[in-house]
Amino acid sequence: MNYDIHKIRSYFPVLKQKVYNKPVIYFDNAASAQKPVQVLMQQERLHNDFYGNIHRASHYMADKATEEFEGVRDKVQQFIHAENREEIIFTKGTTESVNLVATSFGEQFLSPGSEIIVSEMEHHSNIVPWQIIALNKGAKVVKLPFSDSGELQTGLLPELINSKTKLIAVAHVSNVLGTINPVAQIIETAHQRDIPVFVDGAQAIQHIPVDVQALDADFYAFSAHKMYGPNGVGVLYGKKKWLEQMPPYQGGGEMISEVSFEKTTFSEIPFKFEAGTPNITGVIAFGAAIDLLQETGLENIAGWEQELLTYATRKLKEIPGMQIYGEAPHKSGVISFNIEGIHAFDLGTMIDKMGVALRTGHHCADPVMQRYNIQGTVRISFGMYNTIEEIDLFIKALNKVRLMFGQVAT
Ligand code: PMP
Repeated sequence: MNYDIHKIRSYFPVLKQKVYNKPVIYFDNAASAQKPVQVLMQQERLHNDFYGNIHRASHYMADKATEEFEGVRDKVQQFIHAENREEIIFTKGTTESVNLVATSFGEQFLSPGSEIIVSEMEHHSNIVPWQIIALNKGAKVVKLPFSDSGELQTGLLPELINSKTKLIAVAHVSNVLGTINPVAQIIETAHQRDIPVFVDGAQAIQHIPVDVQALDADFYAFSAHKMYGPNGVGVLYGKKKWLEQMPPYQGGGEMISEVSFEKTTFSEIPFKFEAGTPNITGVIAFGAAIDLLQETGLENIAGWEQELLTYATRKLKEIPGMQIYGEAPHKSGVISFNIEGIHAFDLGTMIDKMGVALRTGHHCADPVMQRYNIQGTVRISFGMYNTIEEIDLFIKALNKVRLMFGQVAT
């Protein structure tokens, strides 16, 4: 495969760091990814060369900042192949994108008795906002369950969908199980009944090519910080036909056309949904992260991460007492597991001292834990810069932890 891992790693200064005097092995990419020099430099350039509040002032620096900010909107449009640039709304992150749609779509389209179908493998941020709006509107959240192997039981959809169903919310990729859900198929089923679909793409967009038109997604949300960009920036893609019918999410500057004490009229999309000063620096630096993903190629990244996933899964399965959660045939580079006799939290604390950064706990997906009747898991999640050598070192570290617990080395 034509994948220059050395070049890619050279972009990320933090990967040369040592923690506890050990080279850092960063396997917590599903929580947040590290930042390349391209992104760091872009942030500095903006503040060294020009800076101003966008869209408003008539001076050079504000114009330049506006041009670059709006340029990133074009970049995102092209990156996810949206039909119109107005369909790209900048938010704080996936969480805010979900809240925006839940609140605004909910206000417009939900009434007492309405139902929203939400998958059982969602991150809390794609469950709780729907529960809040459902409570406000007298609506109901209905669960789309998943099987033992971590696959959504999409065959149940025709039964779950009825005349009260107003929306389906589903993750493209699960942050715990790694399952790549068949969102195109779910959307097709939903559209046969004229039901829109909200896709949480937080764990997909940096790992697999995404084409919102090919998927025919009504809404698609993601966070810049998981795609090697800055934190505090997210995207909500929404089809124009929905966004234009939805009321504003927040009121303030930028989102209005005219204001008087008698009446306010609102801007057109996307500005109707972008109240206040956005994260100007973050959005502009996000552009550099998208450039890096595109230069490297999502297909190449996906191929590389599949190799890591296959290798790590095989190595982990050699360990006695290993339980992996989520073994769907289409998986992204996320592995959740437990080792019999070792608490996930203890494992995480001990392996951290060996330089391995991973995540333990419920991963903001309590219903997934409840489904397997467990408290938590250990989770490793790969990014574009991880290597087979790092997996070997991680397995070594894991075996050291097992020895400390009196288990026999493999
Ligand atoms: N959805 C999924 C699937 C996630 O993994 C995450 C982050 N862990 C979120 C939503 C929330 O993203 P953010 O915290 O960036 O808003």
